[in-house]
Amino acid sequence: MKFGIDIGHNCPPDTGATGVKQEDVLTKDVGTRLMAKLSAAGHSVINCTPNTASTVNDSLQKRVDKANNNNVDVFVSIHFNAFNGTANGSEVYALSRTAAAIGRSVLDEIVSLGFVDQGVEKAPFFVIRNTSMPAILIECCFVDSPSDMGLFDANKMAEAIKDGLIGDVKSSSPAQPATLVVTTNTVLKPSTEQSANLPAASVVAIAPGSYPVLNVRREERHFWVKWTDNSQAGRDEHFVFEDHANIQ
Ligand SMILES: [Zn+2]
Repeated sequence: MKFGIDIGHNCPPDTGATGVKQEDVLTKDVGTRLMAKLSAAGHSVINCTPNTASTVNDSLQKRVDKANNNNVDVFVSIHFNAFNGTANGSEVYALSRTAAAIGRSVLDEIVSLGFVDQGVEKAPFFVIRNTSMPAILIECCFVDSPSDMGLFDANKMAEAIKDGLIGDVKSSSPAQPATLVVTTNTVLKPSTEQSANLPAASVVAIAPGSYPVLNVRREERHFWVKWTDNSQAGRDEHFVFEDHANIQ
C-alpha cells in the first residue's frame, strides 16, 4: 500500500491551534512516528506536508497535489482539535464510504487508548474533498483539554493510527487463492523490510515453478504473496519481483 501522510499545519501562515500544547508540535510528532511505523511494516509512504506556502490555501493545495500526483492509495491528514477547554475526545472526518470504514477502524484503535469516541463525521475539509483517493482527517484529541493532554502519548497515538490503517486495509482485501508462477530463478524478500541492502540471510532463492498462494496483490514493482503455510523459509509472506513471476 502507498500512504500519503499529511502532517497538519507546520507551514506558516498555515499554523495550528494552541492550548495546553501546540497542535503543530503534536501533529509533527505523531505524523513522523506514523510514517516510520508504516515504512517499517513494508508500506510506501509519501510525506504530503509542504515546506513553504504563500497562503493557507496554498498550503492545503500543495498537500492535495502531492497526494494526487503520487497516486497514493489512502490519504491521512493528522490534526488536533481545540475548542473551549472542556471539550475532549477523538474524531475522524471522511467523505466516501470507503474512507469512513478506514476512519472507523482508526478511531476504534484511538478510542482503545482511553479517548472519548466522538465518531466518524462528514465535513468537506479541503484536503479530503480535493484528494482523489479515500481520504481521512483525524482530530486525534483536544490540545486545550487537560484530560486529553494528560492521556496523550505521541508514540501510542501513532501506533493506534497505524494499526487502524493496516488492519482495515487487510480486512477489506479478502484472501484470493492463486498460483504464483515463477518464470526464472529469483529471490523472495521478506515483506516486512524494504531496504535494497537486505542481509543475505533474509533473502531466499526460489526456483522456477508453480506455487500455491493464499493471497496476492501487486505493489510497486513486486507481488506481495501470502503462502498457504509457512513452508517458504519459515515465513508466511514475501515479496517477489514482478518481472520474475506471474499470477494465475
Ligand atoms: Zn488542525
